[in-house]
Amino acid sequence: MTKIELKKFATALEAKQADLTQALRNRDGILIEKSADALDEVQNATERELVIRNLHGEFTLLRKVRAALGRVDEKTYGICQHYEEDISPKRLNAVPWVPYCIRCQENADRNQEAGDEAFDELLVGVS
Ligand SMILES: [Zn+2]
Repeated sequence: MTKIELKKFATALEAKQADLTQALRNRDGILIEKSADALDEVQNATERELVIRNLHGEFTLLRKVRAALGRVDEKTYGICQHYEEDISPKRLNAVPWVPYCIRCQENADRNQEAGDEAFDELLVGVS
């Protein structure tokens, strides 16, 4: 990968990180508001659950973006984290934070259920 390409991906990753951090800050306000004024209402509880689920998805994404930026620093960006082969530029263009080549990604997706333990850690990181 050329320096120019790397710079392009790093810029995209930084923009994504900024977007997600901003979105998560805003959601934080929604969560607090809802829990304060409608504790007893089942409908609101369901809504809140939905917000929390979305939040969780955004945290997971933010974690991936941060990890990718870490790989830019370590000069391992664009290299599959599993077998160390290059990730195709086409794949990186579509999703700049992918950690794996397509082959390893399919394996990782099958094992992803066990990968959510860093959620609380990220909550601390954003606020
Ligand atoms: Zn791979």
